[in-house]
Amino acid sequence: MQSIYLDNAATSFPKPAGVSDSMKRYLDCVGATINRSVYGRAQEAGLETLALREVLARLFHFPEPATHVVLTPGATFGLNLVIKGLLRPGDHCIVSGMEHNAVMRPLQQLGGVEFDRIPCDSEGFLQHGALEGLFRPNTRLFVLAHASNVCGSVQDAAAVGAACARHGCFFLLDGAQTAGHYPIDFAALRLSALAVPGHKGLLGPSGIGALLLTDELAASLTPLVAGGTGSASDSELLPPYLPDRLESGTPNLPGIYGLRAALAFVEQQGVERLRRHELALCERFLDGIAPLSGVRLCGTREPGRRVGVISVDLPGRDNAEAAFRLEQEFGILTRCGLHCAPAAHRSLGTFPQGTIRFSLGFANTEQDVDAAVAALRAISAG
Ligand code: PMP
Repeated sequence: MQSIYLDNAATSFPKPAGVSDSMKRYLDCVGATINRSVYGRAQEAGLETLALREVLARLFHFPEPATHVVLTPGATFGLNLVIKGLLRPGDHCIVSGMEHNAVMRPLQQLGGVEFDRIPCDSEGFLQHGALEGLFRPNTRLFVLAHASNVCGSVQDAAAVGAACARHGCFFLLDGAQTAGHYPIDFAALRLSALAVPGHKGLLGPSGIGALLLTDELAASLTPLVAGGTGSASDSELLPPYLPDRLESGTPNLPGIYGLRAALAFVEQQGVERLRRHELALCERFLDGIAPLSGVRLCGTREPGRRVGVISVDLPGRDNAEAAFRLEQEFGILTRCGLHCAPAAHRSLGTFPQGTIRFSLGFANTEQDVDAAVAALRAISAG
């Protein structure tokens, strides 16, 4: 039995042709680090790294120089960099009721920092009416999951960006589930920072991601990690400039080469086209399960407000057992449970039982969706 991969929200699979070749070329033929040595292969690696920053800046309409595209191990690291690097005792932070533990856990670790959650409705959307009342004079940061990794709801980030600008607080967008899936315009959303992983919708390998941030926010951050940068080596202090100040240690060069090749594919396809494909499959999936009385959709049907992350509950059944059967009997790979986002499940009313999540990617087909719907029909009826 061939397997059908529907766990792209965890990490995308397959990767576009060219990603593994590019990583192999680095490992076999380049093998040098950046910023430290002057021979040709090191220069090549440096140019490749700069090119990656430039592509990321272009993709997200980033108005600052490419130096402000900081390469990270993933979204988690970028989110921690801002949350822990910025907030101090006495500060206040606002988050949504849909956040991932990559936001909630660093926030919970910070003693003396208070936070409020904007409630979300049972489809996973912010209750915008609650927004204005949450800002305080000491509100320093607003962190928002652009799209939910549980149910795919996409928030109105522009409205949040405008509110943050009015109240003079920084706005950090968690683009883990939208980067590569949904257009993100850094300037139009009035972001202070955008954290993205390379291995999800950007279709690169794991272990590489980026934090794009404004000069104003960067100047307010204390770096989480200090070490060698290959620059200002006469000093035991971190250089004051980006990206070096936030990029200590030898970078993940195989990851940089892999992500650059992946982004060539994303740019050639275009995010809009990738989104259209994903949404068409999503519609087909939602239409397919709509008549199934034993399958409950957790999230919205509205195509304009979602990405292809689909959560379902099988009332009266054990979702974990159903997910197990999806693989054993039908070869369908999903993720079941709370998806590292207990807060989101509380908002959706699916805590603690969780949901079965089907998440679509560029390589999925109508046949994949039809097979998943048929399997759900059989399991929910059987
Ligand atoms: N935020 C959201 C909404 C996510 O879905 C994820 C990954 N599941 C993360 C943050 C963290 O991303 P990473 O594990 O790549 O650091």
